[in-house]
Amino acid sequence: MLQQTQVDTVIPYFETFLSRFPTVEDLASAKTDQVLHLWTGLGYYARARNLHHTAQIITKNFGGIFPKTARELETLKGIGKSTAGAIAAISMGVRAPILDGNVKRVLARYRAIGGWPGHTKVSNNLWDLAEELLPSERVASYTQAIMDLGATVCNRINPACGTCPLRHDCVAYQDKTIEKFPGKKPTKAIPIRSVAMFILTNENHQVLLYKRPPNGIWGSLYSLPESPNHKTIPQLGNLVSESNKQAMDIEQAIVMDPIRHTFSHFHLDIQPIKLTINPDKLTVGNSDEWLWYPLNQSIEIGLAAPVKKLLSQISSQ
Ligand code: SF4
Repeated sequence: MLQQTQVDTVIPYFETFLSRFPTVEDLASAKTDQVLHLWTGLGYYARARNLHHTAQIITKNFGGIFPKTARELETLKGIGKSTAGAIAAISMGVRAPILDGNVKRVLARYRAIGGWPGHTKVSNNLWDLAEELLPSERVASYTQAIMDLGATVCNRINPACGTCPLRHDCVAYQDKTIEKFPGKKPTKAIPIRSVAMFILTNENHQVLLYKRPPNGIWGSLYSLPESPNHKTIPQLGNLVSESNKQAMDIEQAIVMDPIRHTFSHFHLDIQPIKLTINPDKLTVGNSDEWLWYPLNQSIEIGLAAPVKKLLSQISSQ
């Protein structure tokens, strides 16, 4: 959960998750919908799917015992070199380097390593340094310390160099060039995509949702039928007994305020359109793919964050 998300945001999710899945076996035997439900709102849902998959692998292939080497950990889904190093060092005292975002910043400043850490050459230099600085004893303490130093002292803006234990050897501090390190990511304008999302309600105060494919944006989460334009709903194309056009034979349509959801690589402008469907024109029942979601009760499914927001708006109307 802490990959990409801050501690304060994570804590309530973490506590609920652990009370629901206290053991690796509990997580392994859960349904994907239950796992995604507890992740709803946290974003980066691949993490939830990877965690779930990894729990199943550990239960099945490792007899329920967590692997003990960084190399074995790296074979698990969603665990890269740095996370494997952090798990091995902190939980088992294994001598393995880490290089998360905070540590990259500390090391880049400490030895004045220029360039954007996303570039392979810069990243390799930082890994070499992370390896070189690893102590042979108290690896867990060292690893926790360098992560905390990056998170609390060597801040991105206004680092507290005056209290930093590295200040006497820190090249960037001594040279007064801190703001140059680490190098910035080359800027690229974030593209904007737009989509219309249709909130189809029936007389039972239910909203029609569909389950997205496992890969891609919001994989395996439930979402609203959508369309790149405002005229057709492609997802419904093969589900209606009549044509799409007739399925859109609606009793009333309300164009709601648009919302913007920002992913790491694009903005998604969503135009929500609320439709009350004529029940005779749409023959969609609950299935693996489709769900009539009851607005007045909570059920355990994963929802994309803007969909959750729209549903709560609708249910309070
Ligand atoms: S002296 Fe300043 S720039 Fe250098 S590691 Fe410490 S906090 Fe970071």
